[in-house]
Amino acid sequence: MNTVKASPLLEIRAVSKSFGADVVLDDIDLTVGRGEVVAIIGPSGSGKSTLLRAINHLHPPTSGFVLLDDELIGFRRGNRVLHRLSPSELLRQRTRIGFVFQDFNLFPHLSAAENVMEAPISALHRSRDEAAAQAKELLGRVGLTDRADAYPRQLSGGQQQRVAIARALALDPELILFDEPTSALDPELVDEVLQVIIELARTGRTLLIVTHEISFARRVADTVVFMDGGRIIESGTPAAVLDNPDNRRTRDFLSRVV
Ligand code: ADP
Ligand code: MG
Repeated sequence: MNTVKASPLLEIRAVSKSFGADVVLDDIDLTVGRGEVVAIIGPSGSGKSTLLRAINHLHPPTSGFVLLDDELIGFRRGNRVLHRLSPSELLRQRTRIGFVFQDFNLFPHLSAAENVMEAPISALHRSRDEAAAQAKELLGRVGLTDRADAYPRQLSGGQQQRVAIARALALDPELILFDEPTSALDPELVDEVLQVIIELARTGRTLLIVTHEISFARRVADTVVFMDGGRIIESGTPAAVLDNPDNRRTRDFLSRVV
């Protein structure tokens, strides 16, 4: 029998983040189980992107800590650093967390396949042949077998975002963070990207997805989290949070976006 790890994959504890006097994240607690899909919704400026960046320590929190797989990424309280991974340990941790950005962030001078091959070669020291074979397989999985040699400028937004998802998958991350993956897309291109994410959710990946697509959140998420003003206002099943919210701010937000 395999030993099943009972501990959650990601634990965010008392995470706060300030920029100068602006408190952007205010005492966030969130636990994400293995294979769980969490959708984060909330108004613009509520701190959703900052939370994703705090998780992979692109922007370390001002206080609180993040555990990935029981490993402390960093821990600060006020100005005191209580724990910090070394740069090489931090790099290793980052390879375990994929990030898909709103505006794709592909390397413009590299083809679709080369975008997918870049991290395995540079971070995992894979051979070019090995990385190329993997890129072919991953581009197939996102429906882009025939676009492997195209450059980002030759691809639609939906295709670029699917390349970005294939690139995130190339390091086989345990957790993938999506920051509004479809909000830069023309409406007719949204579905092809959502379908790829729904497929990933089915394969048991742990996903944390910031989205404005409420019907998508309802369909894909095990847990929906509503953020406002840097705080988690409400979280629970899609039925609880989206159909029967306890909090007036959640209701107001939903009445504006749905
Ligand atoms: P959301 O993703 O929910 O729209 P953000 O996390 O991007 O919200 O931003 C939350 C707040 O933090 C905003 O008021 C924004 O102006 C501020 N903020 C974000 N990043 C920075 C930064 N690097 N410096 C200063 N303020 C920032
Ligand atoms: Mg944002």
